[in-house]
Amino acid sequence: MVDVLTCTSLADAASALSSNRRARFLAGGTLLMRAINEGDQTIDTIVRTSDPAFLQIQEQGDRIVVGAGVTMNQILASPALEFLHPVARVVGGPAVRSMATIGGNLFAHHPYGELTTALLAVEATVAVAGGYTARELPLVDLLRDRDQQQQPLVASITVQRPLGPAGLRFKKVTRVKPKGISILSIAAMTNGRSIRVAYNGMAPTPMRALAVERALEGKALDAASVTPALAVAAEGTSPFDDAIASAWYRLEVLPVHLRRLLLGEAA
Ligand SMILES: Cc1cc2nc3c(=O)[nH]c(=O)nc-3n(C[C@H](O)[C@H](O)[C@H](O)COP(=O)(O)OP(=O)(O)OC[C@H]3O[C@@H](n4cnc5c(N)ncnc54)[C@H](O)[C@@H]3O)c2cc1C
Repeated sequence: MVDVLTCTSLADAASALSSNRRARFLAGGTLLMRAINEGDQTIDTIVRTSDPAFLQIQEQGDRIVVGAGVTMNQILASPALEFLHPVARVVGGPAVRSMATIGGNLFAHHPYGELTTALLAVEATVAVAGGYTARELPLVDLLRDRDQQQQPLVASITVQRPLGPAGLRFKKVTRVKPKGISILSIAAMTNGRSIRVAYNGMAPTPMRALAVERALEGKALDAASVTPALAVAAEGTSPFDDAIASAWYRLEVLPVHLRRLLLGEAA
């Protein structure tokens, strides 16, 4: 049997989670409820929250603070988050998008986690709720420790709006069009001559492609600048074999899709 605990505040939910190692936080439930229905015996309590802040999207100048309980469909309905629409649109089908949250996506293992890849490229930060305190940390730090420790409760995600509509580019690489399962995905944010690139499916967690970023720093995106960046595209990756693709295949197709994305070419 699994108990359900609904907390009126994020702080109470965080306390409930930290006091019971067998408690899990429930957001949209697209992954957690599947685990419970499949008989995961490590879970004895589900913790939810009715805190309104969990569902809010707040614009603060160029920053947008997105409650971790905001769903893909709510992202798609938000003009402030237009730069994330192409990403939210490729997460699952309509039923999944009506439940799947931005916060849950941060903890979704490959082949999932598309939105997280884009959030890494826009250098998102996350606010982690605590029993008495909340703290803000770079998303990259949350992902680094994601699978090593008890999951912290993410209250919200803060993103900086990219410059211009083409500021964020995104590609989900699949074998089946238009909506196959992800082999890997790539996101790139350009702000003038500064670029941030992130991959999913090239390591156990979504990662920044720091070598590519360094190779492109201060340069306009054209064939001359992109070619040397492609030569270091695999630096820092640790691709794996799974039922979707082999590590070899991932390494082969990564530079092909990265090139197209950076040069704005159609797939
Ligand atoms: C049929 C199907 C297709 C899918 N397709 C895609 C896809 O194309 N792309 C993709 O990226 N994903 C996909 N997913 C995976 C999933 O729907 C999404 O990743 C979704 O964003 C997960 O969010 P959720 O709210 O449903 O998470 P939940 O199932 O509620 O939670 C998942 C995990 O995250 C933890 N968690 C949730 N919210 C928080 C929080 N705020 N703080 C701390 N921990 C938290 C939970 O405790 C749990 O461990 C698919 C799932 C299904 C079932």
